[in-house]
Amino acid sequence: MTNSSNPAQAARAKALAWILQGGKRLLIGGQWIEAASGKTFEVINPATEERLCHVAEADSADVDAAVIAARKAFEAPSWATLSPHARTRALLRIADKIEQHIDELAAIESLDNGMPLWFAQGAVTATVDIFRYYAGWCSKVLGTTIPSDGSTLIYTLREPLGVCGQIIPWNVPILMASIKFANALCCGNTVILKPAELACLTSIRLAELIQETDLPPGVINVLPGFGATAGAALAQHLGVDKIAFTGSTAIGKQIVRDATSNLKKVTLELGGKAPNVVFADADIEKAVQSAVKTFCGNSGQVCSAGTRLFVQESIHDQVSERVAQLAATWKAGDPFAADTKLGPLISAKQRERVWSYIGAGQEGGASLRLGGNAWSGAGYFVEPTVFDNVRNGMRIAQEEIFGPVLSIIPFKDEDDAVLQGNDTSYGLSAAVWTRDVSRAHKVVRALKAGRLWINTFGESDPAMAFGGYKQSGWGREFGQESIEAYTQTKSIMVRM
Ligand code: NAP
Ligand code: MG
Repeated sequence: MTNSSNPAQAARAKALAWILQGGKRLLIGGQWIEAASGKTFEVINPATEERLCHVAEADSADVDAAVIAARKAFEAPSWATLSPHARTRALLRIADKIEQHIDELAAIESLDNGMPLWFAQGAVTATVDIFRYYAGWCSKVLGTTIPSDGSTLIYTLREPLGVCGQIIPWNVPILMASIKFANALCCGNTVILKPAELACLTSIRLAELIQETDLPPGVINVLPGFGATAGAALAQHLGVDKIAFTGSTAIGKQIVRDATSNLKKVTLELGGKAPNVVFADADIEKAVQSAVKTFCGNSGQVCSAGTRLFVQESIHDQVSERVAQLAATWKAGDPFAADTKLGPLISAKQRERVWSYIGAGQEGGASLRLGGNAWSGAGYFVEPTVFDNVRNGMRIAQEEIFGPVLSIIPFKDEDDAVLQGNDTSYGLSAAVWTRDVSRAHKVVRALKAGRLWINTFGESDPAMAFGGYKQSGWGREFGQESIEAYTQTKSIMVRM
């Protein structure tokens, strides 16, 4: 088939042409430049293990330069005095740009991260809505008027924080970069984004597209590089006013320690181990289909994935059998093939990590219902793996695996489901499946997580807050609370 008659191959060719044209540099103050050290790192396609290109590798010297550029842009009239309506238009222009490049961005993401093209297209499409959602907020970042006795006027202003450092992981980079940019820009901040070096290409392409919309130079800066160097320098920097971090809980704790240098504001979106609770009175087929989608989607490399499937005892065997049957249809392979549902993991290191958990599950006494076979060809693939009769205390049920591995855990009744569901250090998301309306609402109230679903899992809306209870994070992205996370309150009294 020729490229023109196969849209997936046409998008792949266009993405490859962009990747191979070279010049993947740092964006600082509106200029694409090499790293001060001259260093670069390799970008690998995880589906083929082939090298795609080299990217300039930022470190602390580049962070210093980006902070100066971002501060200058924050204070420049071209950004600081832009009316909220003009900021709305700026964000809408970015949304339109992304919308015109959905297939190209999705194909770049697939090549860099390995996710199937259909999944990447969904992620890019969601980013368009995210920019439009935040475009609407620009003119609604409201202060308040405080009641007084009439001899004074007391009011508040919500002002931007300033220079925001943003550190994102590799699992859905286009979505991560977009939520961070849109939220910060909507409130009038400037940003320095450090994408994960394992998948940084869509952050670079997105920044190129944003530049074409005439955003003032220095409002967004992009520093591909490693966490221990560029990331840590950003978190420690005295000239950075806020760090927004998405990644693992362990690094989140390090960010907090580093941020004490100047007490910069910190928000954290961290790991999860979501309970997905299915009662015997639920629509079992719908619950199972959704359960498979949530642990297999993006090869399980999703912080909110429903990786602990709690199933009421009476239906445990039936559900387990059907889950294994459906998960077996998640064909792994070329991310650009129409029948591929499962891409590779991001790296050989992640594959080793996931394999070690599959071993731990077997050693721990869980029964392996599906998977456990090594992948023979190229690419960091792991096939869907299902354990049942898992006990919630086992390592596979407590630690975030970040691969297509599901633990099916039996429970007795409502109290037992809540007790076990909450028995985790995480609290990012959770779901309950039942036809009993009262039970559904009781259980979601009892589960300790930041985002909950009833009779669905994983659906998102930019207006719906996202963030963690317990060790899944600090603060919220999306929704009204995310506006508070990128602004600060100034209160003013006027003596009349
Ligand atoms: P990670 O190791 O914590 O890395 C995340 C980001 O932090 C990367 O850009 C990384 O850079 C950087 N980093 C590493 N060490 C750093 C340091 N000392 N200082 C500053 N930055 C540093 O996480 P990951 O393995 O990439 O991603 C998977 C994790 O992210 C999972 O735990 C998952 O649950 C979580 N996650 C959470 C959400 C959410 O919204 N809650 C969403 C997606 C993923 P390099 O990798 O380039 O070195
Ligand atoms: Mg890559």
